[in-house]
Amino acid sequence: MTLIRSAKRMAAMAHRLRQRGKRIGVVPTMGALHEGHGALIRAAASQNDVVIVTVFVNPLQFGPHDDFRRYPRTLRRDVQLARASGAKIIFAPGVGQIYPKGFQTTVRVGAMARRWEGSSRPGHFEGVATVVAILLELTRPTHAYFGQKDYQQSLIVERLIRDLHLPVRFHRVPTVREPDGLAMSSRNASLSPVERRQAASIHQALNGAARRIRAGERDAARLIDGMRRLISEAPGARIDYVAIVDAKTLEPVWRLRGRVALLAAAWIGRTRLIDNLLVDVS
Ligand code: AMP
Repeated sequence: MTLIRSAKRMAAMAHRLRQRGKRIGVVPTMGALHEGHGALIRAAASQNDVVIVTVFVNPLQFGPHDDFRRYPRTLRRDVQLARASGAKIIFAPGVGQIYPKGFQTTVRVGAMARRWEGSSRPGHFEGVATVVAILLELTRPTHAYFGQKDYQQSLIVERLIRDLHLPVRFHRVPTVREPDGLAMSSRNASLSPVERRQAASIHQALNGAARRIRAGERDAARLIDGMRRLISEAPGARIDYVAIVDAKTLEPVWRLRGRVALLAAAWIGRTRLIDNLLVDVS
């Protein structure tokens, strides 16, 4: 296992690996790794010669009122989990390594970035797209792995790779969940025991709606209503958005058809959680 802190060293190492014809899988993360990240790393390890995990809490994707300072940083444990899951290299640069002094170039994303997460967190996806472009440039992967857990982000990255003609194959890995259905997230660690129990309602609401769709319900408004009601039952919960959207465009749908994504974002106490489910409407 090699821990790399410098952007220059990372780029040189990636260059050497590519020259030797290695297949490189990259898994970009913000650290505080859990089994959700583990699944991405294992997927990458099964399809590549070398797996690079990047650990970087990206200030550019946090808003002024977001939890950038509160975000957990656990590099020592991250190195262990990454290694146990099959990673060979951890790239954990400081902010100054990624954003040189005087930095002023960003990647602007179109309409898809303005909805849902983008509307609640202005500038978030510009920050994500910018750092992903930089990390892909520094690590030169042949394959890149992102989680369905952040479904909108995964679509935006997939789009970015296509739009900028980046020579890397995109992979989306299914969401890993706790036994009660809560999507694993680094932010779950900041939930109190009571909040932790309430947080499961987000997945229960999505799951309930998916069941009703499979039973024949096609009216989005009724389904959204049901999901909102279930999440709101938890005393500490505050809904940000609940939506049913076309799985490709993320535009809302009212009569369900084709492939749809059920999206939810809610505050449980001071912690903002997101989740989604994809459903094929037959
Ligand atoms: P993060 O460290 O939260 O920025 O996440 C890094 C990558 O791991 C992103 O592509 C996430 O979508 C993915 N990820 C986070 N949580 C999960 C999960 N529970 N299951 C699958 N992938 C996840």
